[in-house]
Amino acid sequence: MFARRIEKLKAYRTETTPARIRLSSNELPYDLPRWLKERIKKELAQIPFNRYPDPYATELREVLAELWGVKPENLLLGNGSDELILYLQTAVGELYEGVAYPIPTFPMYRVVADTLGRPVYEVPLDENLDLDEGAFERVLEDYRPALLFISYPNNPTGNLFSREKLERLRKKVPLMVSDEAYFDFCGETYLPEAVDAAQNVVVLRTLSKVGLASLRVGALIADEAFVKELLKVKMPFNVTYPSQVVAKVVLTEGLEFIRWAVERVVAERERLTAELSKMEGVEVFPSKANFFLFKTPFEADAVHRLLLEEGVLVRNVSYLPGLDGFLRVGVGKPEENDAFLEALRKVLKKLEAAS
Ligand SMILES: *Cc1c(COP(=O)(O)O)cnc(C)c1O
Repeated sequence: MFARRIEKLKAYRTETTPARIRLSSNELPYDLPRWLKERIKKELAQIPFNRYPDPYATELREVLAELWGVKPENLLLGNGSDELILYLQTAVGELYEGVAYPIPTFPMYRVVADTLGRPVYEVPLDENLDLDEGAFERVLEDYRPALLFISYPNNPTGNLFSREKLERLRKKVPLMVSDEAYFDFCGETYLPEAVDAAQNVVVLRTLSKVGLASLRVGALIADEAFVKELLKVKMPFNVTYPSQVVAKVVLTEGLEFIRWAVERVVAERERLTAELSKMEGVEVFPSKANFFLFKTPFEADAVHRLLLEEGVLVRNVSYLPGLDGFLRVGVGKPEENDAFLEALRKVLKKLEAAS
């Protein structure tokens, strides 16, 4: 009954292990302040719940356009950027034309390609976890994929790939997607290129990493004609009425709070990586996002399990290509980060004693 390509798939599983301190999903560690939730409550009460939402999310697009310095016509909103990855792969190129991306990276590029039955061209990162330009060039020239997905900064490595390499590579592919889920933690962007119809880049942004993961709001930024064409595959009511309303309130009245929280996370990222680097045998990979990779002299599985016993959940990424021994940790509140540091010291001592 099901298509063969679907029978081969496994349902995507997310991290649901309960823990006192969750540093595994790259979320903002701060919930919205009480006064802002009160404002949201008032706005939610005004919603006509029997009505469909605005299919174009007109008001929210205006707010986001102003925030990012583009026109509302440059924006297409999705139920998270995950949905926009689906729209891009549904609409750009023929389905028999492939999708290229470096690995390890965000798993959704692959999940969507497999769902649609598009070929995938996965190019392992080099030993510095940057793009392997030679290998990419060969893939782009030999297989002519229709799309190149770049997580910028890259999840799970946290780094920004070399801009020079990206500039050369994107000349060899019809469209490059710059997935900027972590834009607010680094400031690097392809936005000016994305709104320029003469260039072959579109940008993805999301509210998920800046405090609104619960809402599922993502944005595609592209030139007007591109957005207009992609609208053909958009589900009419993909962004819910409550999501549109809440996002609008938070991004206007709550903007100062979001900015404060993001700044705090960036400062804590620097503090935490510096503290970890000082620990005997611990290696930290520098990051431009709200998470980073680290490695200890011990098995990643053991460190992960023992940290969980101490109540701290991080992401075990050591099974991914090129990441043997690495764990990924999100930046939390200062007290959560201190608890993580303390737990790790304890775990390392334990493993030391056992070795
Ligand atoms: C977290 C993340 C997203 C977010 O997806 P949403 O569907 O908007 O929550 C997108 N891309 C990357 C690289 C991510 O790490």
